[in-house]
Amino acid sequence: MCLLQPESRSEQRASVMCVTSCAIGLGSNLGDSQRLLDLAIKSLDDHLQIEVIQVAGYYSTKPIGPPQPDYLNSAVTIATSLSPWELLMVLQSIENNSGRERQVHWGARTLDLDLLLYGCWYINTSNLQVPHPYMADRGFVLVPLAEIAGDWWCGEKLVQDLWSVVDRAGVKLECRVDTFRFV
Ligand code: AMP
Repeated sequence: MCLLQPESRSEQRASVMCVTSCAIGLGSNLGDSQRLLDLAIKSLDDHLQIEVIQVAGYYSTKPIGPPQPDYLNSAVTIATSLSPWELLMVLQSIENNSGRERQVHWGARTLDLDLLLYGCWYINTSNLQVPHPYMADRGFVLVPLAEIAGDWWCGEKLVQDLWSVVDRAGVKLECRVDTFRFV
């Protein structure tokens, strides 16, 4: 039986002893993408073992892969007591709740959530690779991420150094986001 009865979510979170700072990439190009990103960030923050720390702006970006609409991309930093694999499952359940269906590889999707960085961990398992294997080559990942985590390490390089050399053409800021609207 739990004898502690925390009064608030922040007290519940304060009881979490071991937290890791992580970066998540978000993307959507089907449906009301701005609302889908808003809801995804709110869902992350609603999880008792996740606290959203910073939210990057929302950027319109050109798609890679088959012909499809432009994307809206962003990134958030979080603190979490979840393991990387538990966090991946949370990301996938938020994707599924957005109505996402996995049909065409690299095809259009209502919501895509990628675990970009989990502390300084390197992970290479069958269902999870961290740092995210393609992030260093993708302007749509690095432009929002550099806004909030430029001084984070991605492997042996800083995010801002990866940002400085990546192709950023077609990545356009659409709106800044007030972090506090999610809490
Ligand atoms: P996607 O179609 O881009 O959403 O890819 C999802 C697949 O990538 C899932 O099967 C995941 O297990 C796998 N995956 C591997 N590494 C990661 C990561 N760092 N973040 C999210 N998904 C990942």
